[in-house]
Amino acid sequence: MDDATVRMRLEGMLQELDRSIRVLTGDGADLRDRSAADGGAHLTDSDRTRAMLDVAARQRTAVLAALKRLEDGGYGRCVDCGGAVPDGRLEARPEAARCVQCQSRVERRRR
Ligand SMILES: [Zn+2]
Repeated sequence: MDDATVRMRLEGMLQELDRSIRVLTGDGADLRDRSAADGGAHLTDSDRTRAMLDVAARQRTAVLAALKRLEDGGYGRCVDCGGAVPDGRLEARPEAARCVQCQSRVERRRR
């Protein structure tokens, strides 16, 4: 993928994420009102909303970081080992900051 395509995809993702965050935040307020009305029966729903917001916010950060790497010319390099991130991986996840090996190491550490 060339830089222009990558930027377009990342900016598209950013808009999409901003939209979901707005929707989720709106729903969250709605859920809070409803659970106040019927004694917190929707607690699970609002927990799920919070979890989704969490994921969206994390991905938004990743997309912004990828746009920054695109500016700095570091895009497509793994932030941990400096190796090239395979094109196929960037096609699937343009915001990917790490090669598959480093990513799975990070995820193992997180668990
Ligand atoms: Zn790596």
